[in-house]
Amino acid sequence: MPTPVWPYSWPSKDITFKIDSGTTYYNAAASRWNNATNVTMTSGDSDVFIAKEVNAGETGWDGISQRSSSGSEITGCTVKLNTFYTSQEKYTEEIIKGIATHEFGHALGLKHSDEGPDKTIMYPNTFSADKVRVTTPQQPDIEAINGKYSSGLQAAPLDVDTEYSVITPHYTTNYEGYICDADVIVEGIVESAGDGSEHTFGDDKDTSLIYTDFDINVKVVYDGSIPCGMLTVHQMGGKYGGKEHKVEGSTPFTIGQRVLLHLRWLNGHYYLINEDEGVHIKQCGHEYVNVKTNNKMHKLTFLQQLEEIKNARK
Ligand SMILES: [Zn+2]
Repeated sequence: MPTPVWPYSWPSKDITFKIDSGTTYYNAAASRWNNATNVTMTSGDSDVFIAKEVNAGETGWDGISQRSSSGSEITGCTVKLNTFYTSQEKYTEEIIKGIATHEFGHALGLKHSDEGPDKTIMYPNTFSADKVRVTTPQQPDIEAINGKYSSGLQAAPLDVDTEYSVITPHYTTNYEGYICDADVIVEGIVESAGDGSEHTFGDDKDTSLIYTDFDINVKVVYDGSIPCGMLTVHQMGGKYGGKEHKVEGSTPFTIGQRVLLHLRWLNGHYYLINEDEGVHIKQCGHEYVNVKTNNKMHKLTFLQQLEEIKNARK
């Protein structure tokens, strides 16, 4: 099955991008797509497609792609590598080239695919429990691009999309990993949503992204030393500057939902661990459903895992 796509494309198969920094990685990314597919990405002068490196700090993402579109056409794109992560020892040159290739996949109009880290360059996580994502376009990715840049185009649903590569501090995708990574685990009711706001990591305006603050009325604290009552969660995406900033893998909360949240405390805010992966919706009875995977989890299983992690910490 081809990798999923957004319903918009660049108006031509010949695409020029401008490299501000990270030349080696972005040139490698372009040749990987050029060699495998029918698009031709060329480094040169562009006002609308920029590729760069920034130090955005401990954001949870090592690469990001932000696109704007009009109708079925992509009208602008900025791709960033976050040197806070890519300067770490575990990030080899080949892995960083792979992240640049993943982000250029988004820039061409590809969505994430959950087929597996060894099956598609568009797998969301750079590092999984036992694997590093492939670093070149695979057959489903190639089919998706060739299909997209040879067939008719559909209308775009939104003005702006943001996509990102998620990483977790322990480089694991299993549930125990989220418990380990969480500063607090709470269950509560979504009370209200604020307006979207621009959030800058560090002093660099270049690192800013749109976040929405949700107020959660916390009923149970499973882990972490905080009181019950109101807690604000900083969720990626939202309405800002007359546009909807939709983030793949970040589903806005609904007022009145009862949610189980795995949160990290960073730069003065609570953030969801891996966005949708850190959210479970409470069902009738004692079951929870993970927003990203749709996997069901019984409350007893959750409590048992939590207990094991807590014991292991002692
Ligand atoms: Zn991505």
